[in-house]
Amino acid sequence: MTTIYTIECVKCKTQFTEEETITRCLKCGQALDIIFDIETLKKNINVYNITNTPISAVKYLDFYPLKDKQNIISLDEGATPLIQSKELSKKYGIKNLYIKNEGANPTGVFKDRGSLVEISKAVELGATGIVVASTGNMAASVSAYSARAGIPCYVIVPDTTPLGKLSQSLAYGGNVIKVRGTYADCVKLSSEMAEKYGYLLAGDYAFRGEGQKSIAYEIIEQLHWNVPDVIIAPVGCGTNLYGIAKGFFEWKELGLIDRVPRIIGTQPEKADTLCSAFHAHEKEQRTIQFPSSLCGAVNIGAPLDDMKLLNIIRESNGSFEIIDDTTVLTSQKDMAMLASVFTEPSGAIPVACLEKLKEKKVISEDDVVVCIATGVGLKDSHSATILFPDFPAVENSIDDIADFLDSGILELKSDKNNSEILFSTKPSVQSIKEVAETLFGFNAEKNKQFFKELCDEVFVFFERRTEMKKGEFQAILEEVIANTKDETNSILKIIDVVGTHYLNKKAQATVTIDFKGKEITANATGTGSVDAAISAIENALSQQTEYKINLDDFEVNVQNGGLDASVRVKITFSDANKNRVTVTGVSPDLVVASLMAYTKGFIRLYKKQ
Ligand SMILES: *Cc1c(COP(=O)(O)O)cnc(C)c1O
Ligand SMILES: [Zn+2]
Repeated sequence: MTTIYTIECVKCKTQFTEEETITRCLKCGQALDIIFDIETLKKNINVYNITNTPISAVKYLDFYPLKDKQNIISLDEGATPLIQSKELSKKYGIKNLYIKNEGANPTGVFKDRGSLVEISKAVELGATGIVVASTGNMAASVSAYSARAGIPCYVIVPDTTPLGKLSQSLAYGGNVIKVRGTYADCVKLSSEMAEKYGYLLAGDYAFRGEGQKSIAYEIIEQLHWNVPDVIIAPVGCGTNLYGIAKGFFEWKELGLIDRVPRIIGTQPEKADTLCSAFHAHEKEQRTIQFPSSLCGAVNIGAPLDDMKLLNIIRESNGSFEIIDDTTVLTSQKDMAMLASVFTEPSGAIPVACLEKLKEKKVISEDDVVVCIATGVGLKDSHSATILFPDFPAVENSIDDIADFLDSGILELKSDKNNSEILFSTKPSVQSIKEVAETLFGFNAEKNKQFFKELCDEVFVFFERRTEMKKGEFQAILEEVIANTKDETNSILKIIDVVGTHYLNKKAQATVTIDFKGKEITANATGTGSVDAAISAIENALSQQTEYKINLDDFEVNVQNGGLDASVRVKITFSDANKNRVTVTGVSPDLVVASLMAYTKGFIRLYKKQ
């Protein structure tokens, strides 16, 4: 078969054969591009077929750099929905706003379109193994396609990667290798491994990008052969958006469409490798050593396709924008609530940028705008809960459900990750009330008991600290709402705790409690401070009651980082009757937070006997 494409370095323009390399330029290390001979392509394609058959990624095989169509590895990717929601359009002030829901692909992410081409190419080249560096979505997609091709797949990840993120890849049979190093180290190692063992190196390389073109083709068809005015996508390495843009340009060259949309790249502020470079008229990225956005899929410091993407965006008369993580989470919520598209944070970046793009007159309300929701929300279920309070469990009774609904906790606003300073001195009752009402939607008038408890806890907090962050206030507010009911007429109070700990000896604690109006003091030692303090309470209680609770599970979360951060302790207790309860305590001090939780757990279980 005649070759209808060549492989060329985007920078030094050296050409290579695919037997030589399909990843990076062997001379200068820059990205490679696939250049089609448009005249030959024009003769090969079946326009009737293109315009008259339903969309799917495999429909566009003629546009991919594959020589042999006997080896296609497909999971029926593509044909993802293009969704329009009146409510979302109205909220963001764009009359014709569309969401291309790429989460509907087989592994939940657009990368499956690229894997179709990349792994089919691997079969064509006779690969005996496939190696990929990744921390999540890429690994899952490449593992799934490798499994289908029957080729072993090796996934190289930093050892800090949580297992949860790798579960999908493991399920598809990916061989996960954890490396003591950073993501950049893994990229380097994967390429060394490919060379040493003769494996195919998968990742953000030119053949994968070709597979992403089908997003453009499908959008054109879904809009009944009208080209949208604007395409907006999140950018990590730039491979996906470059591929989409290339799809539009090639179809224009082929005469299938008469213009291309303006291509807009978007990134989180904390991983802005390309936006500022774009606006400074630079050709290459501004590398970031430690990007820190919570949008994991685009939290990338050194994008591989920087030159390709910056170039094609300029050619399309497009632009670049950045946005903060909190706005992204808000848009993620809007997309789910108003359009029923549940996307991971990265997939919400385009919608989060709409306001800014309108303000800067980069887009207008009359433009036909397509935002790419790149991956499904289930990929990162933790992030999706940041803007929601932690809901407490209610007792097994309809009265408790009624109390729960009345408490207003379902309407509470949340921003757990927010480390903005809320109070820089001890606040007054009035200012606590204002903050609780305006920022968190808490009704102080309706919930007088909760509010009193909230003020008390805030004041106790300021005994120890001189300022309070937004996330800390929220943790206290939630904890109060979850637990206050138990504290009314409480049978157990902690009056004081004094403790000592040592480097090489057991910790000691002395605790004074009030149990049913009686004051008792007791001591204990323990492996650490928390253990000693809890054992001391248990010793004190055992002087008054036979009733005992056991600690089943103990989880500590640090609020908003830093050495002086407050901690939120979550403990599950049970008793001999198999009653169980999970409670929380929040304090800048780990021992105090644990004792608060213990008290609540004890009171609640004691009442159940
Ligand atoms: C990989 C990925 C991106 C970034 O795409 P690039 O091709 O690296 O620019 C965005 N969102 C999701 C969900 C991804 O998995
Ligand atoms: Zn080169």
